[in-house]
Amino acid sequence: MHQIIYLDNNSTTRVDDRVISVMLPYLNEIYGNPSSNHSFGQLSNNAVKIARKNVASLLNADENEIIFTSSATESINFALKGIYETSNVANKHIITVKTEHKATLEVCQFLETKGVEITYLGVDSSGLINLEDLINSIKNETILVAIMIANNETGVIQNVREISKICFKNNVTLFMDATQAAGKIVIDLKNWQIDLLALSGHKMHAPKGIGALYVNKKSWRKFKLTPLIHGGGQERNLRGGTLSLANIVALGEAAKIAKEEMNDIRHKVAQLRDYLETELLKFNGIKVNGSMNRLFNVSNVMIDGIDSDALMIGLENIMISNGSACTSKEVLPSHVLTAMGLSEEKCFSSVRISLSKYNTVNEIEFTLNKLRETIYSLRRI
Ligand code: PLP
Repeated sequence: MHQIIYLDNNSTTRVDDRVISVMLPYLNEIYGNPSSNHSFGQLSNNAVKIARKNVASLLNADENEIIFTSSATESINFALKGIYETSNVANKHIITVKTEHKATLEVCQFLETKGVEITYLGVDSSGLINLEDLINSIKNETILVAIMIANNETGVIQNVREISKICFKNNVTLFMDATQAAGKIVIDLKNWQIDLLALSGHKMHAPKGIGALYVNKKSWRKFKLTPLIHGGGQERNLRGGTLSLANIVALGEAAKIAKEEMNDIRHKVAQLRDYLETELLKFNGIKVNGSMNRLFNVSNVMIDGIDSDALMIGLENIMISNGSACTSKEVLPSHVLTAMGLSEEKCFSSVRISLSKYNTVNEIEFTLNKLRETIYSLRRI
């Protein structure tokens, strides 16, 4: 395969070499079952404890608030279905947002078939919800508010502090999807009133197949989650199944590195993204989709008169995206951009470029030249 330029890091990320070297011994050297009582199992158990501490530390949470899962999708299913199952409110009501990831939207659609009423909040043209709409949607029957911190397509960051204050004041359980935000921006769960939060390893340079659900220990007064997976009592009886030891160790290491290097990486990647965006905006007919308060690694741009599929083919070995990876096989316009008021044509002319710490200025220069060339030739057709 030709050397690729990977600019699709909101879809998944390269595993950090340091993460690989820390996790490997847990496949063929220290491979005991963390649930075994013998000393070999306890070595594994200790590694799980360290990983849990590192994940908790990234979120400013406590170790006993972290439950390991297989993915953010599982964490989201666990949170939403768990709250639904244990709530004894009649006529249950959930509030979410039209621009959520499909993992949340499709669980909500499933819960609708069980009779749950779902309010899908709209967003403005910058991708932000209106806090008044949230306040006005809350009612006595509201069992949950489910909102993402940062959007996977645009990187737009919601007003987390205000959302959490509103939910806390109204005594409504708040779940936040931090899949794109975790490891990139500071998340301070000791000081923010969030009940549940999901994250995923493969978005932060750990392998695919590992995620976590944070459950605020104070929230157990409000609800008691029903496990999604019943089994051998792992994760305090909340998520059965032998722990995925090497993946957990990897997530812990990735969380530790993300915390230690957050400022430096933000600085480096933001510089590259801003350079890319500034140069792109010099082309004719290009507009950035989403508010200025965005993750530092993402640019979602609308390129007038260009079909995003044709652009992606023209870019050859440069990997970008035109819609979230999970939906890229569908030919529907992006539900995120549609909710922000873009026409179908503008949605199909939009692409997402998402950077990571591994990108270089040479790659961005090369990408800008190739974009210029491809856009020029596509517009001439
Ligand atoms: N939530 C958001 C915001 C995402 O971007 C993704 C993945 O793209 C998910 C949830 C699902 O994550 P996972 O692949 O770990 O199931």
